[in-house]
Amino acid sequence: MKHSDKKINILELSKERFASWLEGRQIESYRAAQVFKWIYLRQADRFDLMTDIAKDIRPLLEDHFTIDRLETENVETSIDGSRKYLFKLEDGERIESVLIPERDHYTLCISSQVGCAQDCRFCLTASGGFQRNLSKAEIVSQVRDIKNELQDSMPLSNLVFMGMGEPLTNYKNLVAAIQVITDSSFGLGFASRRVTVSTAGIVSRLADLGRDTRVNLAISLNATDNQTRNRIMPINRKFPIEKLLKACQQFPLLGGRRITFEYVLLKDVNDSVEDAYRLAELLRPIKSKINLIPFNSHEGCQYQRPNEDTILRFQKILIDKNYTVMIRQSKGQDISAACGQLAVKTADSKQKTDDRG
Ligand code: SF4
Repeated sequence: MKHSDKKINILELSKERFASWLEGRQIESYRAAQVFKWIYLRQADRFDLMTDIAKDIRPLLEDHFTIDRLETENVETSIDGSRKYLFKLEDGERIESVLIPERDHYTLCISSQVGCAQDCRFCLTASGGFQRNLSKAEIVSQVRDIKNELQDSMPLSNLVFMGMGEPLTNYKNLVAAIQVITDSSFGLGFASRRVTVSTAGIVSRLADLGRDTRVNLAISLNATDNQTRNRIMPINRKFPIEKLLKACQQFPLLGGRRITFEYVLLKDVNDSVEDAYRLAELLRPIKSKINLIPFNSHEGCQYQRPNEDTILRFQKILIDKNYTVMIRQSKGQDISAACGQLAVKTADSKQKTDDRG
């Protein structure tokens, strides 16, 4: 993000905070709503474009605030139409967002942190370690900037927090960003039911998320016993399966919604017939649906993808137990569009270039 030292990126402020800044300068607070409409609904990048704001107020705003966009370092398009954006942040860190075309809309997968501290063994983002939380503006800008760029008639209507990072460990900024993203009057206007937060299972934040937002919940489960889950997802040692599922049972589900359970299928680790039956039993008390994600092997990774028969057998057992089970087709495989891969790839190639001097 570009901005000068003294100015504040207005995307970091809530409307209420901006209104009180205006009041402190004897400017009517309703101007805050007008400015926010320009920024989020009309995608304005300059205050001088805001024609319904008094001419003498606009320069004052220019003097104190910026309306920043992220710096796009690279965009890769997959043969299936997915687009992966690599953004370079002000401090040189990189994050990614992936735009996925569906039948009649786009889904955008966004990041909440630079890197991730959860250390899930099958995840490429984890190998880069955790760098820092994204600010509210950095989260919101992924959506605002990509929405602005889309020339298509197909709407960007769905958002998933499934990019880099564990959203629930950046809770304050996550919730502040969701407020702007789902504000239909002065924000980006996404329906809450079309926004999904995916977590590795930060149980201590689930009740907060249910209270503070109206978004959907997805749980990255990936194992049916604590021993296996401890091994592939260290967070399970702190929040074991039974605690996680109990918290899921208590999560408020609005209007017939269900919790999505993501299950990355790893060959000979969690893909057995027993696993499928155990999963069916575990999820029985929860209104749920299941996404099976056959693992995509990557360089240096110890895990492999199960064969097609094993994947279909696993799905059939769950379907026979009356679950809705999708096998999630990995979009954008040719551009490494799975969690964290582009940023890591870029960091690697930069490292190699640096090594070569
Ligand atoms: S799978 Fe998600 S929570 Fe786990 S390390 Fe990767 S980004 Fe973090």
